[in-house]
Amino acid sequence: MVLLGAAALVVAQEALKPQPPLWSSKPDVAAFEKIENATLAAAQRSIDEITAVKELRTIENTLAPYDDALRQIDSATYFAELMQQVHPDATFRDHASEMTRKVGALSTALALNRDVYQALASLDVSKTDAATRYYVQRQLLEFRLAGVDKDDATRAQLKKLNDQLVDEQSTFDRDISDGQNTVEVSDATELDGLPQDYLDRHKPGADGKIRITTDYPDVFPALEFAKSDKLRRRLWIAFETRAYPKNRDVLKQMMQTRYEIATLLGYASWADYNAADKMIVNSENIADFIERVDAASRPLVQREFQMLLAEKQKTDPHAGTIGEYEAAYLNELVRRSQYNFDSQSVRPYLPYAKVKQGVLDTAASLFHLTFRQEQDVPAWDPTVETWDVLDDGKMIGRFYLDMHPRPGKYSHAEMAPVLDGIRGKQIPEAILVCNFPAPTATDPGLMEFGEVVSFFHEFGHLMHWILGGQQQWAGISGISMEGDFIEAPSQMLEEWMHSPQVLASFARDYKTGEPIPADLVARMNRAAAFGRGGWVANQTTYTAISYDLYKGKPQDIDPDAVCEQDAERYTPLTPLPGTHMYAAFTHLSGYSSAYYTYLWDKVIAEDFFMQFDHKNLLAGPVPMRYRHVVLEPGGSMSANDLVKNFLGRPQNMTAFQNWMGEEFAPAPESPKTGQ
Ligand SMILES: [Zn+2]
Repeated sequence: MVLLGAAALVVAQEALKPQPPLWSSKPDVAAFEKIENATLAAAQRSIDEITAVKELRTIENTLAPYDDALRQIDSATYFAELMQQVHPDATFRDHASEMTRKVGALSTALALNRDVYQALASLDVSKTDAATRYYVQRQLLEFRLAGVDKDDATRAQLKKLNDQLVDEQSTFDRDISDGQNTVEVSDATELDGLPQDYLDRHKPGADGKIRITTDYPDVFPALEFAKSDKLRRRLWIAFETRAYPKNRDVLKQMMQTRYEIATLLGYASWADYNAADKMIVNSENIADFIERVDAASRPLVQREFQMLLAEKQKTDPHAGTIGEYEAAYLNELVRRSQYNFDSQSVRPYLPYAKVKQGVLDTAASLFHLTFRQEQDVPAWDPTVETWDVLDDGKMIGRFYLDMHPRPGKYSHAEMAPVLDGIRGKQIPEAILVCNFPAPTATDPGLMEFGEVVSFFHEFGHLMHWILGGQQQWAGISGISMEGDFIEAPSQMLEEWMHSPQVLASFARDYKTGEPIPADLVARMNRAAAFGRGGWVANQTTYTAISYDLYKGKPQDIDPDAVCEQDAERYTPLTPLPGTHMYAAFTHLSGYSSAYYTYLWDKVIAEDFFMQFDHKNLLAGPVPMRYRHVVLEPGGSMSANDLVKNFLGRPQNMTAFQNWMGEEFAPAPESPKTGQ
């Protein structure tokens, strides 16, 4: 009795030992590599432990070391990938990317390890809890999707095809990044309508010609603002023929390779194979989803189209159609003529420091948590902050904020995992890597509203990682559920940053301290809502293209015909002849047939959002119920069950339709003067 008590006490103390922050040992390259190699060696020992078992397989002698190997490989992966993105020293970053390849090799070897697969397959899980049963079943599915249970000849063939696919994907991606086109403009009046800073950046060259490339900062403002129809038409063709004709063949090869992989593994198509470990389960459900989104959005898409057409008829009274290349320009005209809103008017209310505090306070109040900054923690850059997450006074996670641009740093915004959470063993950790304006002595770091939304979106991933990181196993921790669910919670949280109440709690004019006026927020939201119909129609078209290219036998599928038919079917816009958008549609390589994910998660996000009290988004029992039912289970059950448990039914289109219709909601009270 006494001995048992003492042992339990030792275990408890072990669990309570504070986990050191990621950078506390201030590693140089050599120390970093030593840490990584030690972690990989520990992972290998756990793998060896599984295969060495001679007696009856149990959760303790098989699943426990398997999960430990995953946890170690994850730690090594997260650390190397993070250093590759954020370390200020280029040499360190190079060593880190070398390390990601080494870690990746061990990870792939484990995913294809037949002995480990057989060990897990022979486990009797009938007496364990539901989460453990689900975990084992998911892992076995992933092993089978990799072909681990196939004969040697098939596995050799799969390996060949997978290597080939990696090459084809990287060729496709590289062709796109190398595929810049340029349009030459001889007559400077063609640039009428573009803002002055754009004109300053586009002065004629020695030959008197102005050059506009298909890079986004070049081409998008021109498509949006240039009055010249001729210029926008030429730019659109240049933009929609990037990487053409090169990538036509590369795409056909990728489709063929993927089809062969899928059929070797017993699936009828790549779309079916790729859906097998997702919420959507199979390809018929993708087809069905596309039709349902189309039906739900069509009346709104048409209504918006009529507004754009009326705008076009102001200068072209007999116009009956709108070309794809005109949509951005007409959208901008409608937005300016019908919505009294200038996006620059919001920025003075959004200095970085106030926004950060607002994001933390909003999340703390929504999820009933406390955040406490750790002082004097070393990091790779002095601006990096370290924070503890406390639930009822107990530390349940830690996060880092690396928020401002630096030379050589990853240039977008993301949440990156740092450690998997395991109940009683390892506290989950994650980091936000962003590039928001840094406050200086003379400049408060005023943010764009879109950046504020993206900050809260990424912080939502971080909350999901930490609240979902209290599982018994690393492999079902955090956001390890089906890949087509991961964006839904963060997409939902974006709505909080549109609430006048939430914004007024932190968005204050940096000079006067005035909170952001509710009518300004209302006008901003209204202006932002215009164009949702067109956005959905475009997304539906991309979703259909991504699906149609991968749903059958590649020899029967012509990419040009697919793009033409889907554009005609799902958007009211008229395509320009001679364009080949698929050649530069990057997601055909990474997402392949799963582009539906964006709309799928948007539908779930809006359905979730409907359940909250819209008069006070932070009040009532719903936020805590959401935390318990959707976020805390992590990947311990199917996301289809998370959705059903929260909504009491599967998701439907109603809330999504309401969200789209907001652009036609009655105008708010007319703004006060002086705004
Ligand atoms: Zn996201």
